[in-house]
Amino acid sequence: MSKFVRTSSDQNSPQDCVLSLEALTKSYHIGLPTETQVLHGIDLSLARHEFVSLTGPSGSGKSTLLNILGLLDQPTGGELYLLGQATRTLSEQARTLLRRHHIGFVFQFHHLIEAFSALENILMPLMIDRGRPDAQTRDWGMQLLASVGLPNMAHKKPSELSGGQQQRVAIARALVTRPALLLADEPTGNLDTQTAAKIFEMLREFNQSFGCAVLIVTHDPKLAQACDRTLNLVDGHLT
Ligand code: ADP
Ligand code: MG
Repeated sequence: MSKFVRTSSDQNSPQDCVLSLEALTKSYHIGLPTETQVLHGIDLSLARHEFVSLTGPSGSGKSTLLNILGLLDQPTGGELYLLGQATRTLSEQARTLLRRHHIGFVFQFHHLIEAFSALENILMPLMIDRGRPDAQTRDWGMQLLASVGLPNMAHKKPSELSGGQQQRVAIARALVTRPALLLADEPTGNLDTQTAAKIFEMLREFNQSFGCAVLIVTHDPKLAQACDRTLNLVDGHLT
């Protein structure tokens, strides 16, 4: 993975702060009798090299927070800066581009497309921008496949892979754009302990070799402890 190692010029760039949140709030069903506030003023910043876990009881708002961090959902109040840029008032199109270029997602369920091979799934985020992949792009996809331990699986369909292998493909897909931020929502929640530990280890390696910030939601206290920092979401507040 030596070619992924970041260069010294990356290390102290002004974009060392990948993400920051100021007094971020989120309510659902605004104006209805069922209105509920899920996030109550979250302040947070993530540096490029950080590997941070997010824990909290079920229903505490972890997925809500990740979806907002990933620009998939809008907060109700506060501000979210991605690579120094305020995002609240951006157009939907600008948010989509920021998301596509700078953020990778790994979910509990891989969301791979069955009609496509492992390699095509990995290249999908690039193909949206560039159309048919050229030889260099395919080569990059193959490098990622190898780096997630699946060098011979390029032409397999998702259903021909095990759960752990599918999640590895999903990780490679999340990294294909070399995102500054990788968001992982219970990426090992559906896997056995041993496979989960391997996937976690892999995310850790990419965090160090790519230098991308990783925020991982996990219920596993052992995995959480192995992170640089652990955030706990309780009653809509971070502790
Ligand atoms: P976690 O991921 O920590 O389990 P979630 O972020 O999924 O928690 O949910 C937090 C709270 O927000 C829950 O009470 C949930 O019912 C509510 N919620 C989540 N998504 C929506 C939605 N789209 N509309 C209304 N309420 C939602
Ligand atoms: Mg969740």
